[in-house]
Amino acid sequence: MTTTQVPAQPKIAPGKLFIDGKWVEAISGKRLETINPASEEVLTTVAEGDEADVDQAVKAARKALEDGPWSKMSARDRQKLLWKIGQLVADHAQELGTLETLDNGKPIFESTRIDMPFVAECFQYYAGWATKWHGETIPVPGNYFNYTLREPVGVVGAIVAWNFPLLLASWKIAPALAMGNTVVLKPAEQTPLSALRFAALCQEAGLPDGVLNVVTGFGPTAGAALVRHPEVDKIAFTGETATGRIIMREAAGTLKRVSLELGGKSPNIVLADADLDAAARGAINAIFYGKGEVCAAGSRLFVERSVHDQLLSKVLERSQSIQPGDPMNPKTRLGALVSKEQMAKVLSYIDIGKRSEAKLLTGGGRADIGTGKGFFVQPTIFDGVSPDNKIAQEEIFGPVLAALEFTDVEDAIKKANATVYGLAAAVWTRDVKKAHYVARRLKAGTVWVNMYNMMSTESPFGGYRQSGFGRELGAHALELYTQVKSVWVDLSP
Ligand code: ADP
Repeated sequence: MTTTQVPAQPKIAPGKLFIDGKWVEAISGKRLETINPASEEVLTTVAEGDEADVDQAVKAARKALEDGPWSKMSARDRQKLLWKIGQLVADHAQELGTLETLDNGKPIFESTRIDMPFVAECFQYYAGWATKWHGETIPVPGNYFNYTLREPVGVVGAIVAWNFPLLLASWKIAPALAMGNTVVLKPAEQTPLSALRFAALCQEAGLPDGVLNVVTGFGPTAGAALVRHPEVDKIAFTGETATGRIIMREAAGTLKRVSLELGGKSPNIVLADADLDAAARGAINAIFYGKGEVCAAGSRLFVERSVHDQLLSKVLERSQSIQPGDPMNPKTRLGALVSKEQMAKVLSYIDIGKRSEAKLLTGGGRADIGTGKGFFVQPTIFDGVSPDNKIAQEEIFGPVLAALEFTDVEDAIKKANATVYGLAAAVWTRDVKKAHYVARRLKAGTVWVNMYNMMSTESPFGGYRQSGFGRELGAHALELYTQVKSVWVDLSP
């Protein structure tokens, strides 16, 4: 326990739906509770939207797209507006981050110092693109003038998970608005609060009514209604692979565009010639950052046999300094898992590991931070895990590391790629040739060399294989939110 002052929990007003610039109750009148996973107390309630509310939100978004001031706004004015939204997020980073931590259980250090600055940056980055993504003139044969227009896709339905609530939303909302779309956001039922506060800031920035709507509610009701709605043109989703499959199937009914950022079981490969201290530090960050509730988490640590014992002892030693703590304490680096259900799921995987051939090096159970409350799990490391063990195959989404051995580079690549996922991967080596060789051979949307978990607004992020498709962030995301029109003009005399 540290002596750092932990701020008192602020009182949070009940949340309503944000539709067409107004705060409204769900048509059904229902509400859902949102819980602080660190204390197990109810933080507040928010409106429980369903199909009827989604319909209202989509109608508002459609009207704003076609008739409102948004439809006539110049790209330059959209640019200014997005920049202002980014500025307001930066100015309110403490408040938004506090809501995120209370709702999600992530350390306040992460939410205020990493997530919120990233959200602000995302809006300011895409502000710049509003005026810089345009059509082309094409030298077609014949006496014709041919050019392209880049038009918005239309009404975008954004459905996001609870692990980086506002950040994942911003990766969709910022490029969507920059390109002139309108949005209906469905935050995760576990973490609706930051999105609601964010919507108010957008209004304060001057975003016209209906351009961004927020419908809180459950996935199979509110989320599914958004996916099925005929007036929604595109779904941008971040969540589990199993949910991604449902969304793709449901979106087929109206042939919506879909982009999916799904699960992972990312390999973190340490070759014998690596800087083992750096690799050990990286391995810890890879799995325990964000409580391991990170789609790109380095949950499989592959170690070359000759340095196995040395590396694992370094990893184990470092893991001892990471203990769960009160997420509101600025010194905490490992918070509470998001919910009781998530904790139960993680603990059930830990049980599978304990009953298998794998050796439990540390952790292995629920943790108590001295309050007897909260969904805390000890940082857990299994060694000697066989590649076909469930804990080496399935996404656990918690602070659980599976360490595996390999004999040479080819063996490492083969084992690392032996998964249905392909979100991220890392390789640690001092040999520049090996580094680039392995980076090319790994089937993953992001590969880190001698680092882990680095992300930036400018660089694309997304999955290979069942980790999804479509690239968020960077210029690549602009493709997801525009469609191209070819215009022909007869110039014959
Ligand atoms: P988790 O199980 O970890 O909460 P999900 O993939 O279920 O992850 O959740 C991600 C988001 O998808 C949440 O906002 C959730 O409400 C939503 N969701 C869940 N099921 C569906 C569904 N059938 N259709 C649309 N959205 C859904």
